[in-house]
Amino acid sequence: MHPETLAIHAGQHPDPVHGAVMTPIVLSSTFAQEGPGEHRGFDYSRSGNPTRNALEACGAALEGATHGLAFSSGCAATTTVLHLLRPGDHVVCGDDVYGGTFRILDRVMKPLGVTATFVDMRDLARTAEAFRPETKLVWLETPSNPMLKVFDIVAVCALAKARGAMSVVDNTFATPVIQRPLALGATAVVHSSTKYLNGHSDVVGGFVMTSDDDVAARLRFLQNAMGAVPSPFDCFLVLRGLKTLHVRVERHAKNALTLARWLEAHPDVARVHYPGLASHPQHDLAATQMALPGGMMSFVLRAGATGTVAERARRFLKALKVFTLAESLGGVESLIELPAVMTHASLPPETRAALGIDDGLVRLSAGIESVDDLQHDLAQALDASR
Ligand SMILES: *Cc1c(COP(=O)(O)O)cnc(C)c1O
Repeated sequence: MHPETLAIHAGQHPDPVHGAVMTPIVLSSTFAQEGPGEHRGFDYSRSGNPTRNALEACGAALEGATHGLAFSSGCAATTTVLHLLRPGDHVVCGDDVYGGTFRILDRVMKPLGVTATFVDMRDLARTAEAFRPETKLVWLETPSNPMLKVFDIVAVCALAKARGAMSVVDNTFATPVIQRPLALGATAVVHSSTKYLNGHSDVVGGFVMTSDDDVAARLRFLQNAMGAVPSPFDCFLVLRGLKTLHVRVERHAKNALTLARWLEAHPDVARVHYPGLASHPQHDLAATQMALPGGMMSFVLRAGATGTVAERARRFLKALKVFTLAESLGGVESLIELPAVMTHASLPPETRAALGIDDGLVRLSAGIESVDDLQHDLAQALDASR
């Protein structure tokens, strides 16, 4: 079946008790047993829950995976994956990763003896040089955040495979509608389902999908042992969100492309980072591994008539009326933010500078509103902030 059909049906069957068409929210923490150790597949909701099972089957189907594990957050998914590693192991990681992923590697895993090298994976020779004999895992996030760099999933996963390391792709920005990393050679896919998978900014959740039976079994053990499970209610909401993933993502990408082209032509905008623009340095690569250019972009404002570019950015963001100034992304509503002082404030200033996250860089998550209203809002705020 096609993904649009799987999103609505995979893992979901009318409830055998009442015939409910929509998956019931099973809140029970425990399940009655016929005799000691004799149960119908569920004994305790940390170890397994019917609502969670339905979500996991659906998410796995969308990424073309055999196994799916739903987590309490994207960071819980990441932490659990990284606990597959042992002291002395090494990770090769993209240099422009989600700040929380950097923090887990730097402040949680490093003290446990798992080290990481961060590298700009657009440069495959440098990526190859970052490997060590003890490299066990490669982490790539593409498109990257907030610079929208695009990394070659096939090439990086092949490098990992040749060195006996597993490869993990954070597919949060692209979603399985746009990009299917397992088909491109990745061992596992990680999501923050807080973003596009749920899509309505009312759940914090995570996901791991893999077709590697051994990796799945070890993750299942770690998740149950460490307890990083989502609530049944949140599982229900993400499952509901998945049903409209395709129509939402198509509209997000359509709106984003229109806004990116308009911003690129605007005299007050110095540069737009969006894989759908011909000016994007990896535009051709993006076209081969992504079905659509996605809903995320960043752009660099020019300074106004008075003050610094940071002051202009502040005036611009405060003048917006339809866009909400907030962290996060991937919801139906358009969001906008200033990475240098919001999502990426925890990065050391020199790291921010090296990545190009300067004071005038604005990140935008295009929602599914009328694109005319979004464009007018950007136009009036650019005028008002001049
Ligand atoms: C938000 C995000 C995460 C972390 O997910 P949480 O659900 O916030 O824990 C990881 N990766 C990317 C790309 C994200 O945007």
